[in-house]
Amino acid sequence: MKVLKFGGTSVGTAESLANVKNIVTSCSEQVIVVVSALGGVTNDLLQMARMAEAQRPEWEQMLAGVKERHLSVIDAVVPRERQAQCKATIERFIDQALYGYYGLLFSNKALPDFHKEQIRDAIVSHGEIMSSAIVASMIDGAVPHYSPNFIKTKDVDSERILDNSTFGLIASEFGGRREPVHVTQGFISEDSTTKQITNLGRGGSDFTAALIAAALDASALEIWTDVDGFMTADPRTNPDATVIPEMTYAQAQAMCEAGAKVIYTPTIGPVALKHIPVWVKNTFNPSAKGTVIIDRN
Ligand code: ADP
Ligand code: ASP
Ligand code: MG
Repeated sequence: MKVLKFGGTSVGTAESLANVKNIVTSCSEQVIVVVSALGGVTNDLLQMARMAEAQRPEWEQMLAGVKERHLSVIDAVVPRERQAQCKATIERFIDQALYGYYGLLFSNKALPDFHKEQIRDAIVSHGEIMSSAIVASMIDGAVPHYSPNFIKTKDVDSERILDNSTFGLIASEFGGRREPVHVTQGFISEDSTTKQITNLGRGGSDFTAALIAAALDASALEIWTDVDGFMTADPRTNPDATVIPEMTYAQAQAMCEAGAKVIYTPTIGPVALKHIPVWVKNTFNPSAKGTVIIDRN
């Protein structure tokens, strides 16, 4: 079994989602697919929250645009017989849940800060909730999962950390399942005490995928993104950057800590502990070899 994580650009358009489908369905072993929100949607959800909190009514029109974007992706990638149900799901999340949360922020200027923060966490979780609903409907027989059921956080000294129950919960969620494809959300989690929705921080979908891979002793973790691999520098700012074919966990960790955002830094720990190879691959150029991160020997 392996874990495949697709980032925002990989699930951002109908064209890229078609690549995702090909990559997933051509796997010969069981796969757990972890997805980010459609590219840019996390930022949009947070921007609308800021608008609503500032009593700026433009959030409503922007939310209509986000809805339109998801519905048109469904038209393009979800098989016809599952489109109506998938659209109804997205409409429910937007017209009921999100509309309700933004409305609360908009009309209650005096909400206490902690309550606003809980509402923002609930809002932002919908990026991954919606993208995973689309990806699960796109692939025949894919089994949908809800990651806050098994990725748990707790707050210690006002810092949010992973709750240890996570590993056992992942094992019971996926252990013994025989279906070839499973789909779940990256990034989002649940507080083990308060049961409020939480998240693992911006870029956290990589970490979700690493936790699942480690808990299940996966044969590999594949991080599918928009560059040909882990590179010597960010290719956006350094045109001379080249792909590093092979790295150790320690090298990857050091480069992530120095700011290489191709992988969210906490991702390396759990997979290094279990010696699980991590591949960094390009959804837009799947035949490129990519980077493998392994132990030195
Ligand atoms: P995703 O949405 O797939 O998680 P990210 O935007 O988080 O993708 O990460 C991929 C981006 O990381 C690339 O587009 C690239 O600009 C940037 N990046 C920064 N440093 C590096 C690096 N050393 N190697 C490759 N990409 C890097
Ligand atoms: N969607 C979240 C973000 O934009 C998590 C992720 O993409 O990894 O930060
Ligand atoms: Mg990322």
